[in-house]
Amino acid sequence: MTLQIQNNVSLKPFNTFGVDVRAQQYAEACNDDEVREALAYAAAQDLPLLVIGGGSNLLLTADVQALVLRMASRGIRILREDCSHGLVEAEAGEPWHPFVLWCLEMGLAGLENLSLIPGTVGAAPIQNVGAYGVEIKDVFHSLTAIDRQTGELREFVRDECEFAYRDSLFKRETGRWLILRVRFLLPRVAELHLEYGPVRERLQQMGIERATPMHVSRAICAIRSEKLPDPAVLGNAGSFFKNPVIAQAQAAELKNRYPGLVGYPQADGQVKLAAGWLIEQAGWKGFRDGDAGVHVLQALVLVNHGQATGTQLLSLARRIQSDIAERFGVTLEMEPNLY
Ligand code: FAD
Ligand code: NAP
Repeated sequence: MTLQIQNNVSLKPFNTFGVDVRAQQYAEACNDDEVREALAYAAAQDLPLLVIGGGSNLLLTADVQALVLRMASRGIRILREDCSHGLVEAEAGEPWHPFVLWCLEMGLAGLENLSLIPGTVGAAPIQNVGAYGVEIKDVFHSLTAIDRQTGELREFVRDECEFAYRDSLFKRETGRWLILRVRFLLPRVAELHLEYGPVRERLQQMGIERATPMHVSRAICAIRSEKLPDPAVLGNAGSFFKNPVIAQAQAAELKNRYPGLVGYPQADGQVKLAAGWLIEQAGWKGFRDGDAGVHVLQALVLVNHGQATGTQLLSLARRIQSDIAERFGVTLEMEPNLY
């Protein structure tokens, strides 16, 4: 057995909230064999297994009575390419943002709007990561996962992943699929998506007239660095709530009461509200209770000012949820995975 299993390990360095809980046991898997060893060990010990990547979408509310397995497998390769596309495969443990840059440097576009998202390649399909009008489903090709119940390998093509807004089959079937590697079909000639938020303005400020995917990546990195807290400095898990999608009639009624309401019509006739606007409007932006707080620049992001526990952050999140439900009649759903 090559897998190194440690007992009673602090998970503080392994979750971007910086919450200090302990794992009963902890190991890092660098390849498929080590993943299989971990599955066999957990089954033999009758111990639950919690798979993590970069820990950037987790809220840990108590010590984890499980074997925590951090995916540390590495490797990126082009499986095939022609003059129009490249099919790229990356191991689950590859850090996401360097992977995006690697693709751009190889002349492969499509992921530029997803620059600077923390975490790993293997976790990206879990919530179909998205930003600035692009989701991974737009360039996703397929992935290989191991069925934790049977140990069998399974290939999933895009339609089988049931990707939706910050959601997928893998998120819904929690604990069943362990993603080993992911493949993306990336175009050489990019169709740029610049319509979201301040991307176009930022490119103009940068003096870019004919933007390339690399320019878009740089612009998005600059915007994100200014607005979002760096987890290395201030613990957070990005957006804490999903943007709620509500019926058009309810959105119209809210717009009458709150003319500044920020909403985006969806293809199915519903309206996606900016949850950050609702939270800010309710006065929570910059709020702090002990070390659990709401970011001063983006009300959608909960932050750990130092020693907040997972339960303190969860309790703040629940207060915000009930306040928003009471004021606006809108239910906010949490985005991070709770353990
Ligand atoms: P983790 O947090 O380690 O795990 C998340 C979930 O996936 C857990 O349930 C875990 O069990 C499961 N999991 C992890 N790896 C695997 C695997 N290999 N197989 C099976 N299950 C697995 N998200 C966005 O969508 N868009 C954004 O723009 C964005 N911006 C962010 C900005 C900041 C500052 C932060 C802190 C977070 C942001 N996020 C964003 C959220 C987060 O970065 C993404 O969801 C990311 O994909 C999580 O990756 P991770 O490796 O950290 O996953
Ligand atoms: P923002 O630009 O202030 O916009 C607020 C919200 O409005 C966003 O959540 C976005 O929805 C929506 N929006 C903006 N322009 C839109 C358009 N043209 N069409 C439809 N919807 C539009 O948001 P931000 O907080 O700075 O984040 C920028 C991007 O990064 C967003 O896409 C956001 O989702 C992503 N992000 C995600 C996380 C996370 O943890 N999930 C963290 C940081 C940033 P969407 O969220 O649906 O895109």
